[in-house]
Amino acid sequence: MSDYTADDHRHMQHALRLAEQATRRAAPNPGVGCVLVRDGQVIGEGATLATGSDHAEIQAIKDCLARGDSPRGATAYVTLEPCSHYGRTPPCAERLIAEGVARVAAAMVDPYHEVAGRGLAMLKAAGIDASAGLLEAEARRVHRGFLSRVERGRPWVTLKAAATLDGKTALLNGASQWITGPAARSDVQRLRAASCAILTGSGTVAADDPQLTVREFDVPRQPLRVVLDGRLRTSPASRVYQGHPALLACLESEAQGLPPYLARGVEALPLPARDGHADLAALLAALAARGVNHLMVEAGAGLNGALLQADLVDEIILYLAPSLAGDAARGLFAWPALEDLADKRQVDIADARLVGRDLRLTLRPR
Ligand SMILES: [Zn+2]
Repeated sequence: MSDYTADDHRHMQHALRLAEQATRRAAPNPGVGCVLVRDGQVIGEGATLATGSDHAEIQAIKDCLARGDSPRGATAYVTLEPCSHYGRTPPCAERLIAEGVARVAAAMVDPYHEVAGRGLAMLKAAGIDASAGLLEAEARRVHRGFLSRVERGRPWVTLKAAATLDGKTALLNGASQWITGPAARSDVQRLRAASCAILTGSGTVAADDPQLTVREFDVPRQPLRVVLDGRLRTSPASRVYQGHPALLACLESEAQGLPPYLARGVEALPLPARDGHADLAALLAALAARGVNHLMVEAGAGLNGALLQADLVDEIILYLAPSLAGDAARGLFAWPALEDLADKRQVDIADARLVGRDLRLTLRPR
């Protein structure tokens, strides 16, 4: 929208930064940011707390009051339309009205069916200058996990892979660990910390026995570890099943083999079959239903290839180590041989940078 000023953009950018920091703790709610401004001065700011606690608007109002000021006559910059419904908390739109805010600039309408424009309508009905659309594209990126779950019924899926420069992940004997350097591994810890859940496959559990936990960063809670093991080939003693919550997805037809896993506190998710394998779309739908906004995939070529072929990958973070493994090593994505080069999978390179000695590519499947 053209009638937003440069100051409007600057304040919304501020709100978006707050939102970005709140995304993980607020999940499955959207991590929203809010900045209160009067006469060009920021008089309060806040971001959504954990589920059941304050939304961003309430935190910003409390911050403003704590500074000895009042939101009366202020503009509220919010990265998502203020809510209009009684959920676990009263509606933020009602509170903004009660505090006498003069203007609300939202980045975007909340697609959640309980809100969907009603928050803005409630504000307008109270005589407040309320609009949406300020830096909407940026807000859609910040809120991509929540939006994916609400609009598509599946999490935002980030697939992480590490390979040599010639695209190899492991030797044929299965040896695969430490392809990349410490900076890239630390970067992976950061990605895990930003995820609600981490998905891996039975082959990776058998070969590497990973824990898939966040160790380098403080997180409000560890991501849910999800193992896709259709035929229950993994050992119930695997490290991924110990300690923090773990979910084992298998074929419905294999459910009789679950007791040894259940005995270790692992939760089971039986899935219908599709072409002889567990249905991946059903897996993602089940994760969304459990409130998973951001899913990170750390798997081998089999699951990677299947997810990409099923068009269920939103982003690939590919770390390329400055080394070469040669032809007789394993690749990144397994799928049937192409008959025609025109059938190759196209991606866009959204970002490329060095992380330590490794190259990190951010790829978007077309
Ligand atoms: Zn709210």
